[in-house]
Amino acid sequence: MSQPSKQPIVLMYHGIVSEWTALPKTREVGADLYDVPTVHFMEQMEWLKANQYRVKIFEDGMPAPGEHEVVLTFDDGEMNNYDQALPVLKKCGFPAYFFAIAKRVGERGYMGWDELRAMHKAGMAIGSHGFSHEILTNLLDSQVEEELRASKRYLERNLNIPIDAFSVPRGFCNNRIIRMAYDAGYKQVFITDHPRALRIECLSRIAVKPNWSLERFELALIGEVPIMEQIKSWSIRIAKRVFGSNIYDWIRKMLLKI
Ligand SMILES: [Zn+2]
Repeated sequence: MSQPSKQPIVLMYHGIVSEWTALPKTREVGADLYDVPTVHFMEQMEWLKANQYRVKIFEDGMPAPGEHEVVLTFDDGEMNNYDQALPVLKKCGFPAYFFAIAKRVGERGYMGWDELRAMHKAGMAIGSHGFSHEILTNLLDSQVEEELRASKRYLERNLNIPIDAFSVPRGFCNNRIIRMAYDAGYKQVFITDHPRALRIECLSRIAVKPNWSLERFELALIGEVPIMEQIKSWSIRIAKRVFGSNIYDWIRKMLLKI
């Protein structure tokens, strides 16, 4: 299974953690399944640098695909992004997207306004990850609007910068949600897996896993997925569709632990 050739490779990170990292108490179910150790993250960034990858953020609208290009994204806005990821990115001269959950800015374990401002000053793009991290496909139109628009407004007001990118909380999306995100003024919408029925352009992402070797990381950059992982993600996708979010969380946890 490869990424659609129309878009650049976009990697999705969440927590970047060392042994000493204090994690937020209000983390999402299964967030630990995406915690990449700082040493792995460092190796991955150094590999990109050594192999002359261009790490991009988009100035305007949807990107044109490019050879040897990659986009880095971080969801949830945890403080470890500032403590652990930012120094590595700065050292490599790489920009990245950081998607903050508006309601959690400044909560214990999450970046506050000062950290987000410092990120922006260092050349990083700040995006919205919804107001409360609710699964948007469970909400009424008016509630989805609120999640999309209120988070954008709140981040823009406090940071005094335009918020052009949106990352769909927990990956649940459909045509309605994506259309509403563009209508709310976002220029780039990032999702996780691309649902087959999705007809509107958006950026699907590859989740970098904690146990990835550098070889596995290299495979991701050419859009390759080992066969066992394809079967797993296929099962997870079916579970997501058939069982909805609660049982899906449990099944995902089981499958990702194998
Ligand atoms: Zn999230």
